[in-house]
Amino acid sequence: MSKRLLLATKNPGKLKEYAELFIELDLEWLNLDEMGINLDVEESGETFKENAIIKATSYAKASGCLTMADDSGLEVDALNGRPGVRTARFGGPHLSAEERYRHLLTLMERIPENQRSARFKCVIALALPGGLVGISQGICEGAIANSPRGSGGFGYDPIFYLPTIGKTMAELTSNEKHRVSHRGLAVANIKPILEPLLSETNKNIT
Ligand code: IMP
Repeated sequence: MSKRLLLATKNPGKLKEYAELFIELDLEWLNLDEMGINLDVEESGETFKENAIIKATSYAKASGCLTMADDSGLEVDALNGRPGVRTARFGGPHLSAEERYRHLLTLMERIPENQRSARFKCVIALALPGGLVGISQGICEGAIANSPRGSGGFGYDPIFYLPTIGKTMAELTSNEKHRVSHRGLAVANIKPILEPLLSETNKNIT
């Protein structure tokens, strides 16, 4: 029996990580492009949780499928929690990932070592066409490095330093990242909710 799940994101970094994180469930991943869903959902929430719910419920309604969405980003204490829900847009439109993290490094230039704490947060929402069916959160504590290091991962990984490991997120292998990352933790919490839903919803499809 196939286990169909729509992953409501166009971010290639997230797509790759979810495929790895759920590998043992042998899911049939559906994506927005392949399903011809052009709906542009405005991330109008003030929290990661609100935005994850908006994305999962809107795309589940549009597609008729069990849908998973994540909203994630970086909170920097010295910047009063910014960029937060605006992490993907930080610094302005049309910037590359590198330009965005360099913008953050510039803002942090005068911030001393002991005041550079930050965290990645990830909220995963699961929805059926009728509404929300599950939610989970993962948090990864770290600090903003003084300069980028490493070439793995995506987004802000080269400047997110993990003091307990002594490396940036971009210096970890994929499996090492998944063991400590906000997304890895959120996935571990959503699996017990997702698994029974997969067999339930597929009973109705097949
Ligand atoms: P959104 O969830 O689509 O609003 O985008 C979240 C943004 O946060 C991404 O575009 C990345 O820039 C950043 N981000 C989220 N998770 C990670 C991660 O695991 N590593 C690095 N950057 C991340």
